[in-house]
Amino acid sequence: MSDVASPTLPPGEGCHGGRETMQAAARAAGKSAALDRMLADYPRGPHDQPQSMCPAFGALRVGLRMRRVATILSGSACCVYGLTFTSHFYGARRTVGYVPFNSETLVTGRLFEDIRDAVRDTARPEEHDAVVVINLCVPTASGVPLDRLPREIDGVRIIGIDVPGFGVPTHAEAKDVLAGAMLRAARQEAAAGPVARPRERRDGEPMVAPIGELFPADPPGIAALLRPMGLGLAPPLPAREWRDLYASLDCLAAAALHPFYTATVREFHAAGRPVIGSGPVGVEGSAAWLEAIGRAAGLPAARIGAATDQAVAATRAALALHPVQARVTVSGYEGSELLVARLLVEAGAEVPYVGTALPRTEWSEPDRAWLEARGAHVQYRASLEQDLAAMRETRPDLALGTTPLVQAAKELGIPALYFTNMVSARPLFGPAGAGALAGIVAAQTRQAGRFSRMVAFFDGVGAGEAAGYGSRGKPADPPGFRERQRKLRAMRAKADEAVGS
Ligand code: SF4
Repeated sequence: MSDVASPTLPPGEGCHGGRETMQAAARAAGKSAALDRMLADYPRGPHDQPQSMCPAFGALRVGLRMRRVATILSGSACCVYGLTFTSHFYGARRTVGYVPFNSETLVTGRLFEDIRDAVRDTARPEEHDAVVVINLCVPTASGVPLDRLPREIDGVRIIGIDVPGFGVPTHAEAKDVLAGAMLRAARQEAAAGPVARPRERRDGEPMVAPIGELFPADPPGIAALLRPMGLGLAPPLPAREWRDLYASLDCLAAAALHPFYTATVREFHAAGRPVIGSGPVGVEGSAAWLEAIGRAAGLPAARIGAATDQAVAATRAALALHPVQARVTVSGYEGSELLVARLLVEAGAEVPYVGTALPRTEWSEPDRAWLEARGAHVQYRASLEQDLAAMRETRPDLALGTTPLVQAAKELGIPALYFTNMVSARPLFGPAGAGALAGIVAAQTRQAGRFSRMVAFFDGVGAGEAAGYGSRGKPADPPGFRERQRKLRAMRAKADEAVGS
């Protein structure tokens, strides 16, 4: 039997036990430090948890997208089923490892030994640079100690992380849990001695390291903005290959383009690298960002000015091609919502509301201040209810948001776009971003007439009494149905009252 502490999850509890129960169990099982770290890195509030998919998906996706990295899940079968299904739906084309457990292996600590065996089997240096193990809710609450796994086996790094839904609010932040853990390991390796040469590193070229999952056209676009200053762009984080982590760490400055990568930023700071917030969006955003990068790099003002002038002219021209004359609400859980809103305002849109599922951090402060100065309400950790209320109150010409928000908007005849598939799947930064985003928003806001015709055409279909199937005409209540239901309700209320007394 292993010397691993026995789980303290109350019998019969599990994923549905509630956040407090799970947190208490995790603390009692020795995970207090890990939990405190998560709660500090990913603060909650104003309400506890935005509606989003299982947070662990973010970490799983980061692992699955990396070359020569194997990813193993440790958790309940239902969670693993959902996570593997979603990852293959998004084209993982990679095996997701799974170490199953039952009450006995969990209670006796055998699960930890099973994970260790699985890691040993998987850590083949000819195939992998690293093996990632992710503890889901139940193993985390039960104290399965992934920090006791060997740190490497035959040169293959072993990265064990806890990503419970009761500690990490969104799948976006779960990306940071793994990206930060990997960067930490790479930093420690680089500090200890020579490491592998990054694939695309040009000797002596000072680099800026972008943080955030970017649309593929964005890194070349940002690189073009930096080139006049004599700066290059390191591979973005989360990384696609282990050796890219060394290139990122070797930067002159890091750019927190997505502002919620707290653990990742901590590693850059530990490596002595400055971290710049916001991003090169629109005319003012690009100018401010290039100036901040240039200053961090210690470049002369003339060189910064030349690069800024070039970016400003190209972005202004791109925006002029697609003027937006519309009221737009923006909401999502990607972390780029504030940047998108800035770009829309510069394109001419009125943006009364920006909701993001992510927390307020210092790296989005310039964007928050800029937007609020232009009348936008910025809601961090926004819930679906807040996004819906803002959309209903402000009646935008276009709503950008999550799928339930888009559905609700369309039912009201308001044109709407799904943020993840339609906005995040386009460039955002520099002139390319200005052209792409303003272009699609301008096109969509011209659709309002079609939406009202659609709502009028389908008026009453599938709603209220007309819901359900199998009716040939308009469904009607059987005679006396409502009266009988009213009497039944009254009788039940009376019975409840009698029990109460
Ligand atoms: S791992 Fe936790 S948050 Fe994810 S599906 Fe399972 S119970 Fe839910």
